[in-house]
Amino acid sequence: MLRNVVIVGGGTAGWMTATYLKEAFGDRLSVTLVESARVPTIGVGEATFSTVRHFFDYLGLAEHEWMPACHASYKLAIRFENWREPGHVFYHPFERLPKVQGFTMADWWLKLGGERFDKDCLVIPALCDAMRSPRYPDGELFERALHDGGDRPRRSTLSDQSTQFPYAYHFDASLLAEFLADLGTSRGIRRVRDDVLEVRQDERGWISHVVTREHGDITGDLFIDCTGFRGLLINQVMKEPFESYQDYLPNNRAVALRVPIDVVENGMRPCTTATAMDSGWIWTIPLSNRIGTGYVYAEDFCAPEDAERTLREFVGPAAAEVEANHIKMRIGRNRNSWVRNCVAIGLSSGFVEPLESTGIFFIQYGVEQLVKHFPDENWQPELTAGYNRAIARCLDGVRDFLVVHYRCAARADTPYWKATKERPVPAGLEERLEAWSVRLPDETSIYPYYHGFEAYSYNVMLLGLGGHLPQRSLPALDYLDDTEARAQLARVREQASALVDALPSQQEYLASVASGR
Ligand code: FAD
Repeated sequence: MLRNVVIVGGGTAGWMTATYLKEAFGDRLSVTLVESARVPTIGVGEATFSTVRHFFDYLGLAEHEWMPACHASYKLAIRFENWREPGHVFYHPFERLPKVQGFTMADWWLKLGGERFDKDCLVIPALCDAMRSPRYPDGELFERALHDGGDRPRRSTLSDQSTQFPYAYHFDASLLAEFLADLGTSRGIRRVRDDVLEVRQDERGWISHVVTREHGDITGDLFIDCTGFRGLLINQVMKEPFESYQDYLPNNRAVALRVPIDVVENGMRPCTTATAMDSGWIWTIPLSNRIGTGYVYAEDFCAPEDAERTLREFVGPAAAEVEANHIKMRIGRNRNSWVRNCVAIGLSSGFVEPLESTGIFFIQYGVEQLVKHFPDENWQPELTAGYNRAIARCLDGVRDFLVVHYRCAARADTPYWKATKERPVPAGLEERLEAWSVRLPDETSIYPYYHGFEAYSYNVMLLGLGGHLPQRSLPALDYLDDTEARAQLARVREQASALVDALPSQQEYLASVASGR
């Protein structure tokens, strides 16, 4: 057995990895985390993916224990604004599509028509519009049926895709890292606040120790690189090549603002908003004390000062005194995220732009897979290869899903948006797009490996984006009785309106959580 793991980097990736490994292996593994006080964390990364719930459950953390400390709020969906045309809105919720007679409601909706696909077929969009909490005042989840088996804490070490938890969270990522650091040290993780000056390798090229400024040499068996975009261990020392996704996803910069708001006056939408702009898109993330916002753009189409001006105009006077954080993004992944005794997790492993909030999801998946593939002193190459395959497939799958967002958005009104229709797409995607122009995606026609997104997400995006829809509904449906499908549409309307009436607003509910209810 290996005894010592050394993690370099104390951002979200470092502390999620450290606490998860400690929870999984307890005292059988010693975990040391070295973090620099001089090198700042990235300072963004506030919206998450619904599997994050499993992470908190795994650590045994209830919402009232960590949410108020991290100014967290609920995220039931992403609200897409202006992706089809100015003024157009649709939601991508954490909600699977119901099926009728073996066909999803997306297939039926194409046949039966309606006002807006997402609101006609799913209940979460109405909750987002009405700024509702996903929980009743007594803490009960709004739709237990959406989460088979209730919302009991689970101890699965793997994202469990058999259930779709109906929400994720927004939180202040720096506060979460701090929270996890306190938790981790109380559970036995050794925290070293120091700079790693050098990384030393033995004659085979394996890392033997890191040299710190004030704490001397720190030795270990396995070294985890959580140093962010710089990839100090994996790229600079192990020389693993980084494969860029830039040809497919050109957004390579962002400018971010932390904007104070009065949530009582403004309310809190329980969703992330992604607003399409001339050369990219702007995220709006409501926390319980402020809004996180940022413009993600491609520098080939927009200069940083123009991006900042656009973002400030978008936010308005509330941002006047707020300092902007300009960020260069490294888009792509390492050829391998695990090389010899070095594993990269977080931005050092790979990143796609934050459009579907997958950065923290990649961290969680990375550490879950590491637990599954954890080595002993034999370092079986199959374990390393299996890990690298899973991580590469997950990132490549999300890359493809994001390419679909741009390629299938009806918008083509600026040079940036025109280019999204002309750019090549990754291998295999053109064929899938062709198939989807006749038949909406299902599990047999989407990217075939686990990447977090299921066929329902592809359906919701295609029907919302509006630029790549089947010419007509499925011929098979003409042979079927549509009574039950019509009844299902009516049921969604009734359920949505009853929930909007019964649920408290998100800000009311979070206030009661913060007061320790
Ligand atoms: P960092 O936060 O960069 O941390 C690096 C750590 O390494 C720091 O602690 C630093 O001190 C340490 N370090 C570096 N060098 C040394 C050294 N020599 N010695 C010791 N320590 C060292 N993800 C989401 O899930 N949702 C989002 O909405 C989202 N939005 C994003 C928006 C943008 C614009 C960007 C760029 C990313 C976004 N992400 C998002 C991704 C998310 O921010 C990251 O996945 C997450 O913060 C993890 O970052 P990290 O810990 O890998 O790196």
